[in-house]
Amino acid sequence: RGGKAEREVPFAQPSSLTRVYCVASGKGGVGKSSVTVNLAAALAAEGQKVGVVDADIYGHSVPRMLGTDGRPTQVEDMIMPPSAHGVKVISIGMFTPGNSPVVWRGPMLHRALQQFLADVFWGDLDVLLLDLPPGTGDIAISVAQLVPNAEILVVTTPQQAAAEVAERAGSIAVQTHQKIIGVIENMSGMPCPHCDEMVDVFGTGGGRRVAQGLTKTTGTDVPVLGAIPIDLRLREGGDEGKPVVLSDPDSPAGSELRAVASKI
Ligand code: ADP
Repeated sequence: RGGKAEREVPFAQPSSLTRVYCVASGKGGVGKSSVTVNLAAALAAEGQKVGVVDADIYGHSVPRMLGTDGRPTQVEDMIMPPSAHGVKVISIGMFTPGNSPVVWRGPMLHRALQQFLADVFWGDLDVLLLDLPPGTGDIAISVAQLVPNAEILVVTTPQQAAAEVAERAGSIAVQTHQKIIGVIENMSGMPCPHCDEMVDVFGTGGGRRVAQGLTKTTGTDVPVLGAIPIDLRLREGGDEGKPVVLSDPDSPAGSELRAVASKI
């Protein structure tokens, strides 16, 4: 939209009724995108109007996890996002040919995010979830500038080392004056398929440690919103494009994710 003034981000307006959540993590591979798509699908299944911005620019995986290979269409000067399982979704992957890598620098990322938020026709959303890249990067700061009222959900595993980086990623909220609404511990043990005893593959306590640390740094109560076990059905759901909250809502991971969704 060269030359034209940037459109305002509707979600940043004081009159906006949309709850905006950034799903953040310290490291990659902790299940941030899986949590994002499952929360989105669970909220949509409850009848809420939900959108997801895949802002994990280098590791975009949300469309596949939601089972869509749809491309956005253009109507006048707005971008119409494809939807899957009742969730509207936009991803940088939809604008790159094939599986080509994204080699953009900070300012372009900011511009892409601005367009995802302002030039995509979202309609009246109840909830917008942003899947952030891991760590404390440019995108987290851009989001804070573009949607200062966005609240943060931190995903960590139970592991000490993961919890430390997750806490650092969360504490950026102090600088950006954003609210952290809670911590989700993922990969919290795995039920043994033979005897059902829990195996603490990644140790224990990471979620609690991150929540306590962030409560201290932010001076406001940051709760643990849930602990999601390692569950084959969650991984399969992601691979097959049908989030576990829909494919197997009463599985251990599915029911815990639905419980988290009911709290946000
Ligand atoms: P991130 O977004 O943090 O990089 P992903 O959501 O892509 O992480 O998850 C990484 C991999 O781990 C994916 O293959 C996903 O299916 C799998 N995974 C995530 N959480 C679980 C879980 N609770 N149980 C089983 N597999 C999981």
